[in-house]
Amino acid sequence: MQLMRAQIAKHGGPENIEWVRHAMPSPDAGEVLIEHTAIGLNFIDTYHRTGLYPLELPSGLGLEAAGRIIAVGDGVTEYAKGDRVAYMGPSLGAYATHRIMPAAALFKVPDAISDETAAAAILKAATTEALVERCAALSAGDTVLVHAAAGGVGQIMAQWLKAIGVHVIGTVSTDAKETIARAAGCDHVIRYDHEDIAPRVREITGGGGVPVVFDGVGKDTFMASLDSMAPRGLLISFGNASGPVENVNLGILAQKGALFVTRPTLFHYYTAPAERAAGMARVWDMIGSGQVAINVGQTYPLKEAAQAHRDLETRSTTGSSVLIP
Ligand code: NDP
Repeated sequence: MQLMRAQIAKHGGPENIEWVRHAMPSPDAGEVLIEHTAIGLNFIDTYHRTGLYPLELPSGLGLEAAGRIIAVGDGVTEYAKGDRVAYMGPSLGAYATHRIMPAAALFKVPDAISDETAAAAILKAATTEALVERCAALSAGDTVLVHAAAGGVGQIMAQWLKAIGVHVIGTVSTDAKETIARAAGCDHVIRYDHEDIAPRVREITGGGGVPVVFDGVGKDTFMASLDSMAPRGLLISFGNASGPVENVNLGILAQKGALFVTRPTLFHYYTAPAERAAGMARVWDMIGSGQVAINVGQTYPLKEAAQAHRDLETRSTTGSSVLIP
């Protein structure tokens, strides 16, 4: 029996995603073999492919997937054959029909949550949990700014914020995305394809600005994010969909109101086992209780991962995207 997995031998465009076959491996001690049923697509996969986040090559791709355990290595007591599990890295290689994973990297998927939902959500919702509930200190009644609010993380974040009583201003680039962002709970939507973000935020907030901005767009929105903030506000710059933020003179944070900026990664909020368990329990609860609905905007056969990357990078997707082996 064989498995199929994606590989990149050099950084570059989606055409660099190759497919290779390997003999089916057996799990070593502490590991399990998973048959994937659904794989989550994330913008970070494109950074790995292009080399924005350099990798040792050749490398696999993909951080997030769900599936069933089909073999268990020695010493694994917390999982058994047949268990439904999902994971969100930290190692690459989720674009594959099967995969060996350390048991310690897995999360059990609750019965009420489908494999497709788990694969579409686990990394993006954990990011939301960490940034909304642990990175920012928000209170019900606050108003915040969320960029790309119709995207994968964006829709989850808007719903999550709404559920904890926070008002959301979302940015989007098209009419269709505006409708989606409003359905996800955005109280106000800024069309940053033709509207200036900061003046609109000032208008909406009565001039005061927002205490927190969630910015996964990066280069194109960085200055507007700073200009949208209340004094001593926090910019959570968590991604680079438009390119990385570079060459910032820290003095600008003083000029614009003693602002704070953090550049977090999910993985630094999901380290200790107890922290991982508590974070994921909250994620499953928000999804299972229906407070956060996971919108799978598009699915692709696994072998069409290159097309999925093109769609993500040309802003043609909404919500989460899932690859089906
Ligand atoms: P999305 O589904 O949100 O896709 C990205 C969106 O960004 C697009 O749909 C588009 O929405 C917007 N965008 C704005 N400018 C551009 C541009 N020039 N090119 C492409 N897209 C652009 O992706 P994800 O949900 O997977 O990720 C969202 C962000 O969160 C990414 O930056 C990602 O890296 C980051 N992230 C960070 C994590 C962390 O640990 N730090 C973890 C998870 C995600 P529109 O058309 O409305 O502008």
